[in-house]
Amino acid sequence: MGLIEGRLHPGIVTTTVDALFNWARKNSLWPMTFGLACCAIEMMASGASRFDFDRLGVVFRASPRQSDVMIVSGTVCEKMAPVLKRLYDQMPEPKWVISMGICSTAGGPFPTYSVVQGVDHLVPVDVAVAGCPPRPEALMHAVLRLQDKISEMTIARASSPRPSS
Ligand code: SF4
Repeated sequence: MGLIEGRLHPGIVTTTVDALFNWARKNSLWPMTFGLACCAIEMMASGASRFDFDRLGVVFRASPRQSDVMIVSGTVCEKMAPVLKRLYDQMPEPKWVISMGICSTAGGPFPTYSVVQGVDHLVPVDVAVAGCPPRPEALMHAVLRLQDKISEMTIARASSPRPSS
């Protein structure tokens, strides 16, 4: 559904509250600055001048309380799991999670007792990015898919917190 629902008169347009809120949300995604391992280097490159995530409205923030996206970029160790969960809980609703790389999504090459075998065991994942590591283009594609998902949201969904583990 596009943002503009109809035109009544030159200069006057109508829309829905859902469409207006979704348009604002999807064009101002603020990920938390949070890197766990080698994938974080690619995430940092995404924000630098060559890929320039700012032009998508993606601006990294230094506090979970100012962030609405968590990009889990790297291996999630069992020791880090409660910290990751706490940071997620501190983010305001509505919020989203991108799992970047095979380590975050499924434990990667570490099927051991000390590595979480998928961050979806801790928090609800919206988009998973394949690769080891995924390139910035892949992360950008994930952001665009997340924007598509946000476009379909309703106010009822946005105001009800999603269950997490
Ligand atoms: S997926 Fe590959 S690049 Fe990313 S954290 Fe794991 S080992 Fe490192």
